Amino acid sequence: MRRVFVFVGLTVSLCLGSVAVGQQPTGRGRGGGRGTPIQAGEACPPGTTEIRPRSCMAPELPAPSIVDYRPHSTLVTPVHMVKTAKYPAIDFHGHPQGLLGTPEGLASMGASLDSLNVRMMISADNMSGDRLKNTITSIRGSEKMKDRVRVLAGIDFRNVGPGWAQKAVAQLEADVAAGAVGIGEISKSFGLSIKKPDGSRLKIDDPELDPIWDAAARLKLPVFIHTADPQEFFQPIDYSNERWLELALFGDRRYPQDRFPSFETLMTERDNLFRRHPKTTFVAAHLGWHANDLARLGKMFDEMPNLYSEVGAVLYDIGRQPRGAHDFFVKYQDRILFGKDSFQPEEYPYYWRVFETRDDYFDYYRNYHAFWKLYGIDLPDSVLKKVYYANAEKITRWIPR
Ligand SMILES: [Zn+2]
Repeated sequence: MRRVFVFVGLTVSLCLGSVAVGQQPTGRGRGGGRGTPIQAGEACPPGTTEIRPRSCMAPELPAPSIVDYRPHSTLVTPVHMVKTAKYPAIDFHGHPQGLLGTPEGLASMGASLDSLNVRMMISADNMSGDRLKNTITSIRGSEKMKDRVRVLAGIDFRNVGPGWAQKAVAQLEADVAAGAVGIGEISKSFGLSIKKPDGSRLKIDDPELDPIWDAAARLKLPVFIHTADPQEFFQPIDYSNERWLELALFGDRRYPQDRFPSFETLMTERDNLFRRHPKTTFVAAHLGWHANDLARLGKMFDEMPNLYSEVGAVLYDIGRQPRGAHDFFVKYQDRILFGKDSFQPEEYPYYWRVFETRDDYFDYYRNYHAFWKLYGIDLPDSVLKKVYYANAEKITRWIPR
């Protein structure tokens, strides 16, 4: 077997005019002649790429930057665009923000949601007090939208210390009385940057916060929480970082490790919180930032029956592993909720296409998120129904069925 392999390899090398292993490059054959040899396991020098085993070469033409390189795929395969969801969806991770405050805003949002088959928008805009009341009054004033928008209550994590919990629980109870159906979105600043009055970082599992999580359990409110950010945002910004372009574009997504806690520190604190409050229902936003490691999220689901998760803004990771993601969604079909995050109506159909089709190799809506294409994960109807609406209905009281 080994001899055959060597023979075939040699033939290919000869046909392509390459340099045999161990020889110094000579002349300018087709492609191989200018190769710079490297050792096994060594990377090619900057500006060159590996053209044959252990031989690197620079392009003859000036290389475009990654910003300008936009190759058009020549792949021809069946295309199934999905403009409207197959089943009426609940967007658990909504940020309609200003649209909820006026009849015109609500009407325009309603028209967009109709065209997408999104039945219900859960506003995760971290509202409380008068702002929450005014928003709910505005929603209730809309004949068309009054049963199609619900609002989560925000928690104010400033000044956590003696007396904080009592005030926070009282405010939460008032917000629930005003019509809030859950808590959220607890933002990533909780853990990353919010400080206690003594200047120390407020840790996600700080025991002073326990009364608010217990109140959530007592009031049967799901807690929608966004912790940290993609793990690459905590890594050095070098050319092996998958999110180099995004980090180069948006400075506020960089978490230099001399100024911010590590990704793993935040995950540990978050998981401590979930474990310590088994009667509280938590919904980890963005698949807990483990969409690139679904086995890790699966272990969390196995260990923590009070944990749910939501798919907003991580479609690039779901769609690049169609077989693994399919199996994961089937296995954990009772734990995953649909959510979109930033409200851009034209982006929802990408989610429908990934969830509902078997399409191959299609574009994602944000190039800077992902240097790769997406594939449909072809979920069965029974799973689609749970992800699109049934799981959200199950954990959220007071949403119209
Ligand atoms: Zn959000």
